[in-house]
Amino acid sequence: MKKNGMVFTILENMVAVDELDELIGDQHISNSYETPLRKDAFDISNEEKIRIISKHFREIMNTLGMDLADDSLNGTPGRVAKMFVKEIFSGIDPKNRPAIALFENKYRYNQMLVEKNITLYSNCEHHFVPIVGKAHVAYISSGKVIGLSKLNRLVQYYSQRPQVQERLTMQIANELKSILQTEDVAVVIDAVHLCVSSRGIKDANSSTVTAHYSGKFNREETRNEFLVLVK
Ligand SMILES: [Zn+2]
Repeated sequence: MKKNGMVFTILENMVAVDELDELIGDQHISNSYETPLRKDAFDISNEEKIRIISKHFREIMNTLGMDLADDSLNGTPGRVAKMFVKEIFSGIDPKNRPAIALFENKYRYNQMLVEKNITLYSNCEHHFVPIVGKAHVAYISSGKVIGLSKLNRLVQYYSQRPQVQERLTMQIANELKSILQTEDVAVVIDAVHLCVSSRGIKDANSSTVTAHYSGKFNREETRNEFLVLVK
């Protein structure tokens, strides 16, 4: 009986762990603003990463029962691996962080600057399927300005890693604050998660909106002005 009891406890724990995984995935829970990375994340080269991912992706496809001898499928593992490392997850690597030059705000424009409808493609870190949406970012210059396209590039950089929308919002906001040397920033992201629309609950109509306001954007007036502009 004791033995059975032990087996039961082990099974119970296994079910619990499995359910916990589902729970974390479906609720999209994350507990850190930093992307969780190991210390040795960049000990191997990109070429080595592509080789390893390609090998494992081939195994995934094989396991699914696909015939990799087929001409149409043969190159897929290599393509996926290259796409992961060089494109959709390239923002994991700090070497790909966009270089951002600051300029003096010579014309003394001291109103808010809004870059709206920035196209956003990311991937859910719980399901590895796309997150597609728009980002709106704004700041009020403290005397420094940056090139407009750099705002798009920053959004892109932080999107190109496995993500959770709340963290993505914070990472963009924190980066803007640090680059522009101001607390006066706002970031709103409105995105569709394919893990919600194409699987699981299969709700194709809902989208997720996250917002971060700080500094002057905490004032109702300033925030409302921003929200009217991005409408
Ligand atoms: Zn997901």
